[in-house]
Amino acid sequence: MRMGMLVAARQRHEPSRRYNALPARVRIREVGRRDGLQNEDAVLATSDKLRLIDVLNRSGLAEIEVGSFVRPQNVPQMADTAEVFAQLRRTPGVIYSAIAPNLIGAQRAVAAGADAIQVFLSASESHNRSNVNMGIEQSLAATADMAALVHNAAVPFDAVLSVAFGCPFEGDVPLGRVVELCGRLLDLGAREVTLGDTTGMGHPLLVQQVVLAFRERFPSQRLRLHLHSARGAGLANILAALQLGIVDFDSSVGGIGGCPFAPGAPGNLCTEDLAHMLHEMGISTDLDLPVLMEAARLLEQMLGHSVPSQTIKAGICKHLTG
Ligand code: ZN
Repeated sequence: MRMGMLVAARQRHEPSRRYNALPARVRIREVGRRDGLQNEDAVLATSDKLRLIDVLNRSGLAEIEVGSFVRPQNVPQMADTAEVFAQLRRTPGVIYSAIAPNLIGAQRAVAAGADAIQVFLSASESHNRSNVNMGIEQSLAATADMAALVHNAAVPFDAVLSVAFGCPFEGDVPLGRVVELCGRLLDLGAREVTLGDTTGMGHPLLVQQVVLAFRERFPSQRLRLHLHSARGAGLANILAALQLGIVDFDSSVGGIGGCPFAPGAPGNLCTEDLAHMLHEMGISTDLDLPVLMEAARLLEQMLGHSVPSQTIKAGICKHLTG
């Protein structure tokens, strides 16, 4: 019995030594406003979107995706993105970014005052066609035009490579193709690349394989991961990435959205669940967890249903014991 307790005590202390090898600080980009809300049936009023951003502004987030400049008939939830930008109550130092699917979208994003613009490309031909009705080469040509436009406007553009960890239509995506497409996007002037696990097909070992392949080709290039938890592997995938020194992640307040193929299933990683795990591990995020939870509860009120967040259900560990 006593031996068992000693072993348990040793096991409890073991992780803190291992965690010393993990990054001390992680930066989170909040995508709930865009990736989350675009997958909701409800279309929030512009004033509600602004209220939500007001709360997020107090949470310590470094970057907030405000919305996307897609055709309103395609994504009605994003029809008022220019209006949201116009009325945004900006917090100094926070980056307010937007998604642009094409040249017109990029023009509108620049005109609206987006601090950074994200462009998307899929790592598989089938997903790219299903997403934007174009092949990968056509999309890259369109991205070149967008890159020129935002460069002239002195707005940074970031690239997101979707389905980098598996494609729902084609299955495995070759590592070589992921790395090659990252190179093409960086050659076009992308400030950073985000690899997206768009439908949650990744697992920890695959995440490490992809990250290592990227690092081998681009040793000093910043890499962001946009991981999903459609099959429950999201936080495990985060740990796998942390072990390789990745410090930039996307997540969504309340865990809303990001899983259009499986209604009700968790899609995007939940910002407060991610922040809670990192804080417990002694990794700083600069995020105020109670404020994030306030944002998640506000979302529940606005959407009229519960959100996938586990932390707002279970509470913050440190608060349980005072
Ligand atoms: Zn997502």
